[in-house]
Amino acid sequence: MENAKSLPEIFGCRVFSDDVMRERLPKDVYRSLAQTIATGKEIDASIAGCVANAMKDWAIENGATHYTHWFQPLTGVTAEKHEAFIAPIGNGKIIMEFSGKELIKGEPDASSFPSGGLRATFEARGYTAWDPASYAFIKDGSLFIPTAFCSYTGEALDTKTPLLRSMDAISAAALRILRLFGDTESKHVTATVGAEQEYFLVDREKYLKRPDLLYTGRTLFGAPAPKGQELDDHYFAAPGPRIFSFMAELDEELWRLGINAKTKHNEAAPAQHELAPIYATANMAIDQNLLVMEYMKRVAKRHGMTCLLHEKPFAGVNGSGKHNNWSLSTDKGRNLFSPGKTPAENKQFLIFLAAVVKAVDEYQDLLRASIASPGNDHRLGACEAPPAIVSMFLGEELDAVIDSIVSGTAYVGLGRAKMDLGVPSVPTFTRDTTDRNRTSPFAFTGNKFEFRMPGSSQNIAMSDIVLNTAVADSLLAFADVLESAEDFDASLEELLKNTFTKHRRIIWSGNGYSDEWREEAERRGLLNLATSVDAYPCLTAEKNVRLFTSHGVMSEIELSSREEILFENYAKIINIEALTMLEMARRSYLPAVTRYTAELSDAILTKSAALPELSLRYEREQLKTLGELCEKAYDAVLTLESAEAKAAATEDVHARARAYADSVRPAMDALRQTVDKMEPIVPSDLWPVPGYGDLMFGV
Ligand code: ADP
Ligand code: MG
Repeated sequence: MENAKSLPEIFGCRVFSDDVMRERLPKDVYRSLAQTIATGKEIDASIAGCVANAMKDWAIENGATHYTHWFQPLTGVTAEKHEAFIAPIGNGKIIMEFSGKELIKGEPDASSFPSGGLRATFEARGYTAWDPASYAFIKDGSLFIPTAFCSYTGEALDTKTPLLRSMDAISAAALRILRLFGDTESKHVTATVGAEQEYFLVDREKYLKRPDLLYTGRTLFGAPAPKGQELDDHYFAAPGPRIFSFMAELDEELWRLGINAKTKHNEAAPAQHELAPIYATANMAIDQNLLVMEYMKRVAKRHGMTCLLHEKPFAGVNGSGKHNNWSLSTDKGRNLFSPGKTPAENKQFLIFLAAVVKAVDEYQDLLRASIASPGNDHRLGACEAPPAIVSMFLGEELDAVIDSIVSGTAYVGLGRAKMDLGVPSVPTFTRDTTDRNRTSPFAFTGNKFEFRMPGSSQNIAMSDIVLNTAVADSLLAFADVLESAEDFDASLEELLKNTFTKHRRIIWSGNGYSDEWREEAERRGLLNLATSVDAYPCLTAEKNVRLFTSHGVMSEIELSSREEILFENYAKIINIEALTMLEMARRSYLPAVTRYTAELSDAILTKSAALPELSLRYEREQLKTLGELCEKAYDAVLTLESAEAKAAATEDVHARARAYADSVRPAMDALRQTVDKMEPIVPSDLWPVPGYGDLMFGV
């Protein structure tokens, strides 16, 4: 660690954190700002000037010369535009200035960000507005101010605005329930989020030789290496020295930014790893996850590697997800999903649990849509990641509690077994009341839910927006019933019974990867939206528009613009992939194979002249096989080319995305199959790009 500083000393040193604010702001200003951060209450605009000044002084002392409003447009990545703190004072001199107005509001030109038809391109004006609930920080010599981004007419053009609105919605709804259970103290309920981030690391030199990785983040071709992940010898294995030094440097960078990077380990696929932070409030956790992804790429580069965040960089081994751990906590730090020792008697817990079960069942389509992307389509349902069917796993104990509620019978506790490994020196311990289920898309894991469908490259804001809003909706419906109940206990019993009876179809404790489940889910009437293109239209389904608008989270226009952007993005991504494949086939693979077959033909001619008694079986068979595959590959190129051209020319964006899904994708698969058959029989020095073995075992 730099200058041998200790971890507590460097932690958060680049963050305008609570401590820094307390130290540098006048008491009343600090108190007002801290209130806003803790409870989401409206910011007192008159303090902005004072805060801006303190931020600027602190930033300059820490080497900053610029500031930037940092936001999350609907591109999936963050955006920043840097402004120097300079103000001329005549005589060619300057002073360093930063006003309250500059802190609160920015005016980036919005015309080059996706708006999904929200804003005609000539109406370029957009605004960024300070999000005081997420700390400002210093990076690359600039003071970064987290902001929300909206159009001139006030529609959200980002992921953060609706997230913050959904956090308000769930807080208000949860408080109403808490009041019914006698909690008069809590002022605020926050959605908490912990995002476990999976990623791959490959050698940078090799990465640069693969146009597919360069343009699309995944391998579009590649025959399997002799070894994959079948030995399960990578998961939790000791990272090699190069990986370890990357991980150590990444941790340190993140700690400086106040990010609680906590867990790191090797994942199942070769070259795959994971980082998990300690959870934070949803908006902060998501900001931080975006920084985690950025720093993974950056630090990897310094170590001569490239970090792949794509959901499926390699066929045949696991892809990468981002488990979205989600819970609710009061401002006093009480976790509302802690079941306690006797969940069957913990009615408050059960009502919150029922709210989630109802929400996940009623809005399974939205949860599915919230994580739909062309990259994630490769993962979902691929027997390594959750299926595309949304279901919940609660564990044996809660299943039994729900059984007893639904059937009206007494609950018999399961008891907690003592674990004794039969080795006297190893301490005994109590077993958990339930095993884990790794195949469930949405699992209760003790005191939080783990939504496992999000893809590694995604901003998980949308999935948390859906969760917050849908659960808020359940809670409000419950509050309406309970607040007007004559007999609270009886009404509560009935509500729990009705809710669990109606929505228990969403609970599945078996193997989520099995065919049995697919059939059972169909019998239960659960949705199975296989691809993104099937899922996107859910965003504007009538019931979903009603959900979002009734909680003030997203307007109908904001939803339809998002849907539009997703369809457009889908078409663009597959288009880039198709063009990359065509380029690689035409300019690399086919010429390489042609050269090699020419070499073989020459060899056959010269050899048969010199040694007529030899069969030259090897050369002849190679030549024949490759000759035939080459013809087939060329056919596949032509088919792909025409499918791509046809899709690209389709006017309507929904139909265009469909065309990419239904005809371009299969044509890509066909081309890949043929090329992948050639790879193992062409000499490695003639093959134009590094292969799977090289990429996955070469770091
Ligand atoms: P697991 O049981 O999934 O192995 P951990 O306890 O390590 O995992 O938690 C995984 C992630 O869940 C971590 O990022 C952790 O901070 C997060 N997490 C833990 N508790 C909560 C909570 N109450 N709310 C949100 N996320 C949480
Ligand atoms: Mg986990």
